[in-house]
Amino acid sequence: MAKPILLSVDDDPDVLRAIERDLRSHYGDRYRVLSANSPNSGLDVLRQLRLRNDGVALLLADQRMPQMDGVNFLSEAMQIYPEAKRALLTAYADTSAAIGAINQANIHYFFMKPWDPPQENLYPALDDLLDDWQASFRPAYDGIRVLGTRWHPRSYELRDFLARNHVPFQWIDIDATANDPETQRLLAALGDEVSLPVVLFPDGTKLLEGTFTQVAAKVGLRTQAQTDFYDLAIIGGGPAGLAAAVYGASEGLKTVMVEREAPGGQAGLSSRIENYLGFPTGLSGADLARRAVVQAQRFGVEILAPQEVVGLRVDGPYRILKLADGADISCHALMIASGVQWRRMDVPGMDRLQGAGVYYGGGASEAMACKGEIVYIVGGANSAGQAAMHFSNYAEKVVMLVRGKSLAATMSQYLIDQIEQTPKIQLWANASIKEVHGASRLEEISVLCSDTNKVERVPATSLFIFIGALPRTDWMAGTIERDDKGFLLTGPDLMHDGKYPKGWPLERDPFLLETNIPGVFAVGDVRHGSVKRVASGVGEGSVAVQFIHQYLSKV
Ligand SMILES: Cc1cc2nc3c(=O)[nH]c(=O)nc-3n(C[C@H](O)[C@H](O)[C@H](O)COP(=O)(O)OP(=O)(O)OC[C@H]3O[C@@H](n4cnc5c(N)ncnc54)[C@H](O)[C@@H]3O)c2cc1C
Repeated sequence: MAKPILLSVDDDPDVLRAIERDLRSHYGDRYRVLSANSPNSGLDVLRQLRLRNDGVALLLADQRMPQMDGVNFLSEAMQIYPEAKRALLTAYADTSAAIGAINQANIHYFFMKPWDPPQENLYPALDDLLDDWQASFRPAYDGIRVLGTRWHPRSYELRDFLARNHVPFQWIDIDATANDPETQRLLAALGDEVSLPVVLFPDGTKLLEGTFTQVAAKVGLRTQAQTDFYDLAIIGGGPAGLAAAVYGASEGLKTVMVEREAPGGQAGLSSRIENYLGFPTGLSGADLARRAVVQAQRFGVEILAPQEVVGLRVDGPYRILKLADGADISCHALMIASGVQWRRMDVPGMDRLQGAGVYYGGGASEAMACKGEIVYIVGGANSAGQAAMHFSNYAEKVVMLVRGKSLAATMSQYLIDQIEQTPKIQLWANASIKEVHGASRLEEISVLCSDTNKVERVPATSLFIFIGALPRTDWMAGTIERDDKGFLLTGPDLMHDGKYPKGWPLERDPFLLETNIPGVFAVGDVRHGSVKRVASGVGEGSVAVQFIHQYLSKV
């Protein structure tokens, strides 16, 4: 934790130097001693310190300063740091004026100039003030803070991005904490012009409406490759990509993994994976992702995130990826593990309110905020069931909207059993969303009940949608062969009547997980015919590395 601060303010450089010297010699081991040569620069320093969440123990100001006298400086400083002890330095002639102002500015003490010897005239009184301050001092949070409003889509995206990348942060909802003096002081320190959300870093810097790439750079995530050639490049950091990265790098391949959002993929959104081998009580997707990332990094995998692959071309033995920032990465073997993304729901109001009460996927960062509320979940598959169980820990009630008559056809029995044993979860069968309403945030939903053919309109603040997913592979069209839904064809699926795929240049069949381009493999959910499970993605990602070795031995 950073040392608390003692700030002295004086326009006379000699006096300022002397007080600084005396403070440092006596308190320098426990406090940081700062000085300002005018009241205005003193106030600027305090605003910066407030944004950094630093503790200020003492403000010591000379009474006679031309811009603003010490009493007025301390009054203003009190708005920024009310908990700091405030002391005045006065000349003998100003004593009575200073005493008169003490009550008005809530000043704790005044010292007479000169204060020599400080052992008698300065330290005893300051020791007393600082002991008093220490007794009530609670160290402030010294990590990243995000200020915003819960219903602002950009605030949601930012929180979700940090949470999924396992970056610890403190979320300050300025609506929910509008009466909290700490929030008021932070907003005052940011000034009137600020547009939210704002990310405040412990070093005092702030990012206003920063892009994910800027935020990533500040928190130490890497988005640019260290070199331009790798043995193995992997697109996507879900379970399949992470497994390929661990196996590839552990077997000596120079490996880079490019991930558009956050390592973990869809699995990272899962609140509890209960069917993954070796974890009898289940584990959260975030936990699985965090462990896999550490493992991959330990083997030397370079992880670029957030970074997106937007193009692919082949040049002889090289497979060349175009990244969203314009850079190229070339490799000998490429693994496409780009998974699937949530299908959008096409009903009126949905796009407008996305991030402002309407969310696709887990919205893990939102669960706590839903405390005491009614949460609506759309979908009847396992992902929706897991989310319902997760939200039932926080919400007052969770309503699952499912199109069918029951969950039996779409959900695993173990989850159905859990849901039935959770009184907070209510099933609304034969129901589909018709429209969502609200000016700047979700306020109501209209639900079509197929058994009665009536539309019911009910109040709602949070709607989480889990209605299946599709691969986003259009950018590979024309290079990699796909099925009619966009899933990638591999191995035997590429062969027609025993013939090689079009343009196939080799005298062998494509390997099991190889696409129509030699050395380019597809694994996990993005692959045509794959089993959409964490374990199968992990299995494919690791098995494909064997084929990569075989491929590389002939390049
Ligand atoms: C909420 C939820 C709960 C689930 N629960 C379970 C469960 O309990 N048990 C189970 O077995 N399975 C579960 N699943 C399914 C499981 O998570 C998936 O089958 C698995 O994650 C697929 O892994 P993947 O690596 O193939 O793809 P994904 O997990 O989809 O990962 C693909 C990654 O690629 C990235 N990407 C895509 N395109 C690009 C690009 N152009 N450039 C860079 N990166 C890109 C994406 O951002 C994503 O991170 C669940 C899924 C969800 C959504």
